[in-house]
Amino acid sequence: MDYTPETLFEAAAHLRAAREVVVFTGAGTSAESGIATFRDEGGLWQEFPPEQFGHWPGLVRMAVLRPRTLARFVLAVLEPIATAVPNAGHRAIAALEEHTGVTVVTQNIDRLHSDAGSTIVHEVHGSLFEIVGRRGRFVRLLSRGDMLRLVESLRRAARSRLALGRLLAAVRPMLGLGLRGIYRPKVVLFGEALAQPDWDLACRATSQCDVMITVGTSGTVMPAAGLPAKTRATGATLISVDPETAGLHDLWLPGRAATVLPALVDAAFGGEAA
Ligand code: NAD
Repeated sequence: MDYTPETLFEAAAHLRAAREVVVFTGAGTSAESGIATFRDEGGLWQEFPPEQFGHWPGLVRMAVLRPRTLARFVLAVLEPIATAVPNAGHRAIAALEEHTGVTVVTQNIDRLHSDAGSTIVHEVHGSLFEIVGRRGRFVRLLSRGDMLRLVESLRRAARSRLALGRLLAAVRPMLGLGLRGIYRPKVVLFGEALAQPDWDLACRATSQCDVMITVGTSGTVMPAAGLPAKTRATGATLISVDPETAGLHDLWLPGRAATVLPALVDAAFGGEAA
């Protein structure tokens, strides 16, 4: 299914009239950067069920009992993110800032909005690149190059007869025991509170915007998935960009993020999107 020109122009008119726009993104936004969604057909959760791999106690259990399987899971998560670059959808969102106030609220952990040039990005599920210690204390920010090197050493470790020690050595830049206790990536797993201060800032932005564009999210992971309903309750217009599901919306532009978002920004502001 394709969107009609009328829906595109109506959505563009709302964008032109808006003073504050929130772009609320999910895994589908990065699909065309080569990072597959977890939930779709063939996604990560099929091979690595979230009941086993989606929370810290499950990961610790895997590390002890099946370190090779855990290494394959970690590689499956890290490798596409380590090699990804922003797509035309991320770039169109960044370009929107030339025309109106924009806050990006993302469920993604891949840093691609910041790499595309978006300046206000709230990562409500955290970031794989930010390493934190106890009580969320900042430890270091990894670069994509650091991530690539980590993937390489993890791949070498996975090829050898992997013992827990080799796995831990491979992931040491990201996860381990330092002088001040355990450090780990600031990613929100199942059962954990959302990342702060990003979540509070995201809630504030979504209650103050005129338009929210939701992109590539199935709207199933709570509490983040509740943001569109909160925004709508304030009277803001909801525009949905997703090939499969519209979710809560006033206007739905069915299609892929990297195609629809540049077309939308172009229709609203003319020729400056990607
Ligand atoms: P989801 O997997 O539940 O849903 C993905 C949505 O994207 C679906 O509605 C699908 O139709 C849509 N989609 C697929 N391809 C698309 C495209 N090219 N353009 C636009 N839309 C497309 O994703 P979710 O709602 O974000 O929830 C999954 C959770 O998993 C999130 O919390 C997120 O943190 C995490 N996750 C993150 C990444 C990442 O950082 N890139 C990747 C996978 C999963």
